[in-house]
Amino acid sequence: MTTSALTDTQREQLRVQLEQRKEQLLQDLDAMQRDTLAVASDASRGDAEPAGSPRDQANSMAASVVRDAEAARDHAELVAVRAALERMAAGSYGECTDCGQGVGVARLLAQPAALRCIACQSKAEAHVRR
Ligand SMILES: [Zn+2]
Repeated sequence: MTTSALTDTQREQLRVQLEQRKEQLLQDLDAMQRDTLAVASDASRGDAEPAGSPRDQANSMAASVVRDAEAARDHAELVAVRAALERMAAGSYGECTDCGQGVGVARLLAQPAALRCIACQSKAEAHVRR
């Protein structure tokens, strides 16, 4: 019995996409972490040099908030991509994690890391928002 209508070729394409996405996310997160460390070491050297204007400090704080939000989003996506690759290795890729039905080929091609079918995903999101 198959719960996924993906062909082997499609599955392989998606696996490659997921692997590439994982590498990209790891690089992004690594770069962001290096930025954060650089900012932190600048701040600790602050005594020796005249402190930046309050406006500069506010700007760098706003930048770090944006970076944190990006890092959190990248990290969440990385978790989803890794989970999808694990499910692919386990042979359960393409099955909804909630109801076990096929996630749908079109949905997987558009969003290779999708773990749930559209119905379960919108239920899960509604739950998170509450
Ligand atoms: Zn489902």
